[in-house]
Amino acid sequence: MSKPDFADYICRPFCMFFREDEKEDMACRGAAVAERLAEKAVFDPGRAGLLPKDADSWTDAARDAVLFEQVCLSCEFRKEDCEWRSDDPPHDAEPCGGLILLALLMSRGMIGQEVPEECR
Ligand code: SF4
Repeated sequence: MSKPDFADYICRPFCMFFREDEKEDMACRGAAVAERLAEKAVFDPGRAGLLPKDADSWTDAARDAVLFEQVCLSCEFRKEDCEWRSDDPPHDAEPCGGLILLALLMSRGMIGQEVPEECR
């Protein structure tokens, strides 16, 4: 079976910055972590890509603090390119699609509240 394309279950359904015709050289940390979890069959990417994009999942302060520590701290986009983690985020800022997917999966109990260390 071929490996699912992460754009299908991370970027296209969840990332506000995704453009069909633009190819990024680097994926955000959230997408890399979510892809590793999918490869380990921790969740089903086909099912995950269909989850409703529910902002309550990523605006929950406790969950966001966990994801900051476990995912965003080591993300190369955090300091300069990430609106969500900027000091003064715009009111409509959203995390990257990967972080949104991780928050959705956690909020539904489809993954645990901790990202396994080997996937970070
Ligand atoms: S929300 Fe921002 S800092 Fe966190 S993983 Fe995504 S791009 Fe990186």
